[in-house]
Parts: sequence; structure tokens; C-alpha cells
Amino acid sequence: MSAQILDGKSVRDSILAELKPRVEALAAKHRRPGLAVVLVGDNPASEIYVRSKVKACGELGIFSERLTPPDSITTEEMLAIVEDLNRRPEIDGILVQMPLPAQVDARRILLAISPEKDVDGFHPYNVGCLVANSPAPRACTPAGIIELLKRYRVPIAGRRAVVIGRSDIVGKPMALLLLHENATVTICHSKTPDLAAECRRADILVAAIGRAALVTGEFIKPGAAVIDVGMNRLTRREEAERIYTRQPEKLRQLAEKGSILLGDVHPIEGPEMAGAITPVPGGVGPLTIAMLMSNTVRAAERRLEAREAAPCSS
Ligand code: NAD
Repeated sequence: MSAQILDGKSVRDSILAELKPRVEALAAKHRRPGLAVVLVGDNPASEIYVRSKVKACGELGIFSERLTPPDSITTEEMLAIVEDLNRRPEIDGILVQMPLPAQVDARRILLAISPEKDVDGFHPYNVGCLVANSPAPRACTPAGIIELLKRYRVPIAGRRAVVIGRSDIVGKPMALLLLHENATVTICHSKTPDLAAECRRADILVAAIGRAALVTGEFIKPGAAVIDVGMNRLTRREEAERIYTRQPEKLRQLAEKGSILLGDVHPIEGPEMAGAITPVPGGVGPLTIAMLMSNTVRAAERRLEAREAAPCSS
């Protein structure tokens, strides 16, 4: 069996194409949506993420502003930046790129972001809305996965879903979103006994672990939909030889580039067992940015609706 590829790039393109007229309508009626991205210090991985977020804004006609305070910033100074962004009317979304330096209290920063501008969906108020299934910005990666499943017409209601990983940004919100779509959901994590047996029961398996190729064929029920969230860099030749037994071009890639990007799902056994699977790269990653754009546009629309409902307020 060879799995259907769930192409995140084409779903991203559809989402962005649908957002474009909404951005134009906002611009014509009021002003462009605005996103502020705060990137502390010079973490190369964060740099890449922020660059692609700012680029996506540009392509869509969303105003974006990049703030780059130094690595030495204090919690109080970060709070002042966030409070200023909270006050600024032309900013609809605030994204503080994680991780923050150790001396900054990330929890306090997250709490300080106004919930209606929290386009990452990480503020405890918005997490509460997620639990209660009431409207609010949702965490981008899990929200993108739901979009992908729906657009590929993968049935969710009544199906058994297993999420591996219980992080606040992927695993937990993913499980709740699947639950709200009426799946029967199991959350697995690093202390789950017999992980493979739990996963084999899944019609929809979401791997959000951060361990290269941990999910092998024995984890996958034949025909299941497999969503690979993991982004891992493989640098050791022995490990690459063990995983890519029949793909010498991958070993050449490792020799040339020094690393191979792969997911949490075994790149050969996964597509052999699954009915449908997301590739890495090109699966979940592109959806995350699309949903960030979607959350920013929605935040701008909500703020405009609130303004129209109370025309005398500033
Ligand atoms: P995290 O480290 O916060 O959480 C990992 C989770 O995996 C934990 O809950 C842990 O219990 C579980 N885990 C660890 N080892 C395990 C094991 N051996 N067996 C079972 N469970 C185990 O990571 P995260 O932030 O949730 O991210 C997970 C992965 O997804 C990472 O590779 C990350 O880079 C990737 N990611 C990708 C995107 C994207 O847009 N593509 C977005 C977010 C995260």
C-alpha cells in the first residue's frame, strides 16, 4: 500500500487565497490587518520562522512589524513592549517568538498579551475558550491540521484519534480540537506504556514528539491517516543508514548538506502502512503560517465589528 500524500502546501495556498479578499475588504473599509512579531536576540531557527511569517504577511497585504529587542532584555522591558503593542490600534495580532531568554518570565509575557490580539492562541483565556469550544484564536499548528483533515475529507467524527505529545502548543490543543470534532481521543506521551499498541488503534494518528522516525510501521493501523508534526534534523550517518536503508540519495544528501530534515514518523514505513500521510517538509509546517494569517485577519475583523457596534468608543 502507498499512502495518499496530504499536501500542506496546496492547503496553505487555498487558505491564503480565501483570506486575500477578506484582507482587501478590511483595507477598503477600514485599514489593513496588522501583525507585530517580537523576536528576541539572534536565534537562527527563530529568525527563519519569523522571516517566513513576515513574508506571508507581505504576500497577503497584511501590515507587519518586526521588533528585535536584544538578548539581554528584562521581563519588565518585554512587558513594556507588549503593553505598547496592546494599546496600538493598528496592531491586531501580537506574536512573541519562543523561546525567550532564560531571564525573561515567558508566562508573564504570555499573560500580558491582550487575548484578542493573541494570534498564537496561547493566552490562558483563549486556552479556556478552546476547552469550552467557544470562539477565540486557536493554536495555529493544531488548527491547521484540522483544516487539512477537513479539506481532504478525512472523516473525524466517530473515529478513534491518538495524539502523541502533550505540549501546550501542539499535543493538548490538538486533542481538544479533535474531541470537538467528535473523535474519540487518546493522548499519549513519554510515560505511556506500550505506545505502539495505543497508536495502532488510531484511525487518525498525530505525532507531535520531536523524535526522528520514532513512529515506525508497527505504530500504524493499516490505512490510518497519519499527521507528522515533528521537525527533526538528522546529522548522524549511522542513524540515517538505519532509517533510509533503501534510499542512497538520502545518505548523499546528508553527506552534502550535513543534515536531513525528517518527521517523527518513519519516512519509509509510514507511507507504506498509512492510508494518508503528511510529508516532512511540506505537510504541517506550511499550515501553521496559514493559520497565523487566518487568526490575524479574524482578529482584525473582530476588532472592526466591535468598533462598529460601539462607534463612540476609541
Ligand atoms: P515538546 O517537546 O514540547 O513536546 C513533546 C511531547 O512528546 C511531550 O509531551 C512528551 O511527553 C512527548 N514525548 C517525548 N518523547 C516521547 C516518547 N519517547 N514517547 C512518547 N512521547 C514522547 O514539543 P512540541 O513543541 O509539542 O513539538 C513537537 C514536535 O513538533 C517538534 O519536533 C517540533 O519541532 C514540531 N513542531 C512543528 C510545528 C510545525 O509547524 N511543523 C509546530 C510546532 C512544533
